Amino acid sequence: MKKMIAGIFSHPDDEVLGAGGALKKHSLNGDDVRILILSTGLTSREPAKDAEILELRKQAQASADVLGLTSIEFADFPDNKMDSVPLLDVVKRVEEFLDSFNATTIYTHHGNDLNIDHRITYQAVLTACRPLPGSGPREILACEINSATEWGDNTGNLFIPSDFLNIENTLKSKIEALSCYKSEIRDWPHPRSLEAVEGLAKLRGSQSGFTAAEAYQVIKRVRN
Ligand SMILES: [Zn+2]
Repeated sequence: MKKMIAGIFSHPDDEVLGAGGALKKHSLNGDDVRILILSTGLTSREPAKDAEILELRKQAQASADVLGLTSIEFADFPDNKMDSVPLLDVVKRVEEFLDSFNATTIYTHHGNDLNIDHRITYQAVLTACRPLPGSGPREILACEINSATEWGDNTGNLFIPSDFLNIENTLKSKIEALSCYKSEIRDWPHPRSLEAVEGLAKLRGSQSGFTAAEAYQVIKRVRN
């Protein structure tokens, strides 16, 4: 049965780093996969006119095409300072996105990531997804993002993988989708290098009996 899948992330490329293997699997299964990117990914005064931001969105669309996503849309919240925006505005934008279709699985950030935008995105998603009568079953999965999740505050709310997905057949597409983000990729051993992303997939695979996997933390799950 066709599933409705949402990905809500802060920056262009987070969707691939955190869930590229899963998103490709969903699209191969015929699921409807829609992504919302909340911040511009680059600092700018006028996001709609900024050539670098438009270029980044082109890269994001090329990457989305590799993954076979139904759509990828962009909000223009300020990069690396989403804390300068009232949380309610972010929640409203997430609600607007989720109201447009009935997603049953939502991929997003972990609430303890080093990046402030990731933490705010997580808060907004949790708020927008609070259960109301008739809202239907849903699961919220937090993804791990290289250089943001493993480097979060290690004294409390840690990312603890509780859900592993075999991505043996989609790791290649994940790497190809990430390669579309030419301006975001760094050289090894940077955590955002292709080698590090592949290495993490192999590590998570070794923890779950596959040659490659993605790990998530189940944040909420509401079942019928
Ligand atoms: Zn990010």
